[in-house]
Amino acid sequence: MSIADNLKKYKSEVESDGVKLIAVSKTQPIESILEAYNAGQRIFGENHVQEMVEKQTELPDDIEWHLIGHLQSNKVKYIASFVKLIHGVDSLKLLQEIDKQALKNKRIIDCLLQVYIADEDTKFGLAYDEVIEILRSDEFRELKNIRIVGLMGIATNTKNEKQITIEFNELKVLFEGVKASFFANDDAFKEISTGMSADYKIAIEEGSTMVRIGSSIFGKRVIKHFKNTD
Ligand SMILES: *Cc1c(COP(=O)(O)O)cnc(C)c1O
Repeated sequence: MSIADNLKKYKSEVESDGVKLIAVSKTQPIESILEAYNAGQRIFGENHVQEMVEKQTELPDDIEWHLIGHLQSNKVKYIASFVKLIHGVDSLKLLQEIDKQALKNKRIIDCLLQVYIADEDTKFGLAYDEVIEILRSDEFRELKNIRIVGLMGIATNTKNEKQITIEFNELKVLFEGVKASFFANDDAFKEISTGMSADYKIAIEEGSTMVRIGSSIFGKRVIKHFKNTD
């Protein structure tokens, strides 16, 4: 199937469950992104700052760009003028930098706190108690130009569906606790970003509101980066 066909299939499938589709276009060329765009997609996810900036300048203005990868504080300034949602926020220091750059751009930038749910050493993210610690801190309360709209997580890369289900469920339980404790009167705190090509169905069953799907739409990625430095 073509990119356009794949896109339409996943978009209608997840949207019928009330879930947003983030088309993960990292490593994909402009033409492939345009094919998905012309098939109706407007939300794209990238995991490298420089790549996202280059694509943003070349592609239509009504695209919502989501940064889904690990973000280094010193690179926030390059995306602060346009990024729609930053999925991988995993420290107070990074939040403070996003706030500073958002203020410079006279914006409020939406963020998700990335929570560590996988049984692997390689994934970024906050432990549960670190999430609470950040939200309780005075430093966090001073930030006026960021808005936390939910949580994000990446499950273990395994075929064990039971384990994936448990990990996504734990994130949902944490989300509900955080919502009740810190965002009870804040309608904006409503997103759970979980699920990729291999596990999006389980993610949706376990409360995902936005799935990040790349290879199932665009085909296999050409691996350019062995080490993810931004
Ligand atoms: C690459 C990536 C995805 C998409 O993965 P696929 O398996 O290609 O669907 C989703 N989320 C994050 C954080 C990624 O880096």
